[in-house]
Amino acid sequence: MVTKCNEAFTEMSGFSSSAIQNSQLSEKLVLAEDANYDSLDDLFNCALRYEDGVFCDAKLFNQFHYAVSVKLHCVYQGCDIFALYFSVSENKSIDPITKLPNGWALISRVNYLLENNRIALKNMVLLVLEADNFSAINFRYDYMVGDQYLTLLGERLQSLLKSFGFVIRFSNAKYAILIEDNEDLPEPVLRKRIELICQNLCFALTKPIVISEQLAISKSFSIGVSSPGYQYHCYHSMQIAAETEKQKAKKYSINNYFIASPEPKEDFLRHKLIIESLPQAMSEEIIEVHYQPQYDMKTKVLVGLEALSRWTDATLGIIRPDIFIAITEDIGLHFEFDLWVFEKVCKQATLWQKQGLNVPRIAINISFKTMEMTTFIERIRDILLVTSCPTHFIELEVTETASINNSKMLSENMLQVKALGMHIAVDDFGTGYSSLSLIRTFHKSIDKLKLDRSLVDKVCHTELDKNFIKHIIELGKILDVSVLAEGVETKQQLDLLIELGCDYAQGYYFSKALPLTEVIDLIEHDTSLV
Ligand code: C2E
Ligand code: CA
Ligand code: CA
Repeated sequence: MVTKCNEAFTEMSGFSSSAIQNSQLSEKLVLAEDANYDSLDDLFNCALRYEDGVFCDAKLFNQFHYAVSVKLHCVYQGCDIFALYFSVSENKSIDPITKLPNGWALISRVNYLLENNRIALKNMVLLVLEADNFSAINFRYDYMVGDQYLTLLGERLQSLLKSFGFVIRFSNAKYAILIEDNEDLPEPVLRKRIELICQNLCFALTKPIVISEQLAISKSFSIGVSSPGYQYHCYHSMQIAAETEKQKAKKYSINNYFIASPEPKEDFLRHKLIIESLPQAMSEEIIEVHYQPQYDMKTKVLVGLEALSRWTDATLGIIRPDIFIAITEDIGLHFEFDLWVFEKVCKQATLWQKQGLNVPRIAINISFKTMEMTTFIERIRDILLVTSCPTHFIELEVTETASINNSKMLSENMLQVKALGMHIAVDDFGTGYSSLSLIRTFHKSIDKLKLDRSLVDKVCHTELDKNFIKHIIELGKILDVSVLAEGVETKQQLDLLIELGCDYAQGYYFSKALPLTEVIDLIEHDTSLV
């Protein structure tokens, strides 16, 4: 029977000292599967057998069913009373700032409940709660105040929810509350109960958190909730659903909550499936490269091809490249993806050359994020070597999709690309991020500006649009770079662009991006504008 416990014990076990008192230890703790002892009794007996000062090492599962390494030390206190001292040697399930359980503890708890068929995912509801603009506290006061705030907030959440849910801290001022519905309530009843909890939370969190007599901090909170009663296919989906709702709540600077609808949103699910399928689509070459021709406006000769990726998935259907390219950037796969396309194109160019085809320069889209990677040039060199691709066949089209993080590396890499004999084109010029200062800084490395198709689309509309393009073409001349108009769709656009002195054109007026067989046909037979 436990009569008292030390702080290390409460921290390790996840129980409060009041919850542990007068209970049997074996009701609260379980030996981990790979522990050295057969049972908890064995462990305690072993500790009892030893004299003072001897430690037994043990691995135990705590309240969250997370394995914790402890040292156990027994001291006989007379009258058949033993003090067992626990000291924790490893416990990753507790957040050191708030002493609350953390994300590991939450996942362990959920897995434990699922594996032991205690309750199903549909009987769990996850609330993700975050204080808006928490970093302002650290900034305005200091980290000590920030930590105090987090601890007090954790305590408040625990006291508000102790009989309803399991409170953990993820990171910064983001907490989660797992509510277990052990009664298997009907969905509307469970939803009503969750709504009440959220309303109470929103109300209770309007009270400021008192740090000291002089300092009380008021903040707004955003709460996102997974769909009550919905059977998510895994815990991860449930957490993402709650996080997505929290993001919605964050748009309002008041205490606010959003509850997920039972069906995960179509685009969200699709996004997730794309992430899951992408590596396989690359390794199994399900993603194909198509080629869109580029023509010289004056000589009417085919001068280039732009490599554009095409992905048709067996279940998801056609996945647009701008969608999956954005995903590669989000999940950090852009580097591998861009190099994958680069290698495919290099192999193709070498093959065409061996077959005696008159291969035009092939433009490959490379994100800025890829171009500024330290190993970019090394990897490019390796691919060129392995594929024996002559570098004059290759042009890299860069789009400034995100802010430049490593401009030194970027400019070094641009110079190296040039030194290797490849060309560089700036894609989507005239919109978005592709800025004048970029062109100014890197103009020595740049060979071509690609006029964005949104500008080309309007060239025939007004005098202003026409002048706009005219001046970009002039800018190209000043910087000594050629200009290619993208998205040319009509004869009028083409004629006007020729009049304005544009060098090259690409667009549906000539051709869409073509699959391999058709592009071979084009290279073999059709090298001039009809
Ligand atoms: P982008 O580089 O600006 O590519 C041109 C896009 O415009 C292509 O769309 C092309 O099919 C489309 N297009 C070409 N001519 C016309 C036209 O006359 N009218 C209209 N309305 N559209 C035209 P796509 O293939 O859907 O590619 C979209 C974007 O996805 C590309 O924009 C590029 O940023 C990215 N992307 C495509 N393939 C790759 C790739 O292999 N690697 C990387 N990093 N990005 C790629
Ligand atoms: Ca492009
Ligand atoms: Ca473009």
